[in-house]
Amino acid sequence: MSPSPTESLTDAHPVRNFIDGRWTASKADDFLPVINPATGEKLGSTPLSPASDIAAAVDAAVRAFPSWRATPAVNRVRVLFRLKALLDEHHEELARTLTQEHGKILPETMGEVRRGIENVEHACGIPTLMMGETLEDIAPGIDCETIRQPLGVFGIVTPYNFPVMIPLWFWPYAVATGNTVVLKPSEQDPLTHQRIVELAVEAGLPPGVLNVVHGGRDAVTALLEHPDVQGISFVGSSATARFLYAKAAQEGKRVQALGGAKNFMVVLPDADFDRANDAIIDSVFGSTGQRCLAGSVLVGVGDAYGPMKERLLDTASSLRLGYGLEEGVRMGPVVSRPHRDRVVDLIGQGVQEGPDLLLDGRGASVPEYPEGHWIGPTVFEGVAPEMVLGQEEIFGPVAGLARAKTLDEAVELMHRVHYGNSTGIFTSSGKAAREFRYQAGISMIGVNIGVAAPMAFFPFGGARSSFFGDLKAQGKDAIDFYTDKRVVISRW
Ligand code: NAD
Repeated sequence: MSPSPTESLTDAHPVRNFIDGRWTASKADDFLPVINPATGEKLGSTPLSPASDIAAAVDAAVRAFPSWRATPAVNRVRVLFRLKALLDEHHEELARTLTQEHGKILPETMGEVRRGIENVEHACGIPTLMMGETLEDIAPGIDCETIRQPLGVFGIVTPYNFPVMIPLWFWPYAVATGNTVVLKPSEQDPLTHQRIVELAVEAGLPPGVLNVVHGGRDAVTALLEHPDVQGISFVGSSATARFLYAKAAQEGKRVQALGGAKNFMVVLPDADFDRANDAIIDSVFGSTGQRCLAGSVLVGVGDAYGPMKERLLDTASSLRLGYGLEEGVRMGPVVSRPHRDRVVDLIGQGVQEGPDLLLDGRGASVPEYPEGHWIGPTVFEGVAPEMVLGQEEIFGPVAGLARAKTLDEAVELMHRVHYGNSTGIFTSSGKAAREFRYQAGISMIGVNIGVAAPMAFFPFGGARSSFFGDLKAQGKDAIDFYTDKRVVISRW
């Protein structure tokens, strides 16, 4: 299939809830339009479902739990094996839908779908991953074992920026371990995951095991307050993550809440500047900056500053903006008009605070798509952690340059920001990289890597105000989060 800018989704794909194995019209009175951020076309309307829709979905999940839990793990994952094959088969179709509702370019959406599939693959290993432990003779003639058991119904609430991958960080593990799920996807771009749910049904997922309710704050509150929901997995901004963490804990639920980010990248004088620049460009401007792993403040240490700045400006000013289904486009629009306005406003606030605006993306346009939410690469010089540009998660294609005399000073700058999601160092010194890793106090660290994204078998999540909880997404943490370790002590 060759990319064509003219293909488009239509309202032929209504956004519906999926409850007890049936596509169900929401009882919502309010709807939010789903807009193609490049063309401005309306693709659908997301219902802002009320609490009664959540209640119906939780009921279905509660009813489905006993027989799903009793289904042997090997049989449960056969459904996921079939889903994996279907996702592979529909990989490009899913990526193209995603580009249309989110805006990121096709190579990025192909990558996102691939990362999602990898989580399904990893969850297929549940029969091994979910095993317990045994110790014979903890006392004479007495044995002890741990058994991992599912807990019941989990709620999953996800953000707009990775609407395929992030739900797949969670629900395949939750259902593979024998739980049932109510997923509340982002209201901004629900269409691609709706297609994935259709594929899960085709793969044989029984009714009630995975339910989807669309909506916003009211739907999330209903999930948080529902007594039959045992735990919540959440990804979104730090303010919402913090609120949700506290509320879920108050309701006595398990919770993992991944929040926002402000990621520093440090370039040392002994770095390979060309390779560092390629990685930094992808980190800062990939997905139009709408990634929790996006580089945001770039710290040049000593003599590294000049070459870092020169290369960054050179490449950033030549990135081609456009519709992500077209060949040769390097950066798509941001997701919505309000988000574009927010990024423009933050750039304006940045200008007020005094750093030099070296490249200004505010006036960017793509003549063929006048309705697109365009914003071009933007670069500031002289950014400090106390400034809006140094503290706030901008979630747009904006880089702030800063100088440090030493590596220690660069780390100290980074520590003045309250987030702790990701960071990176560019150097040819193993000693410096080790020192950085030791001191960073940040969870996802790249060494000569721009986007330090853990793969499915490693934990994904941050520190400080980027993460609330202890068990992260993916990896072994997912198995721990979705199961309880029950201890049996036996004497015969
Ligand atoms: P968001 O917080 O606005 O929304 C996330 C989810 O929470 C959505 O499903 C939304 O409907 C719901 N929600 C929003 N406000 C709510 C409220 N007051 N009460 C209850 N629910 C509410 O986030 P977003 O704009 O969709 O996503 C971008 C954010 O997600 C960024 O901050 C980004 O850094 C973060 N993110 C973090 C990670 C990570 O791994 N830490 C990964 C991806 C995205």
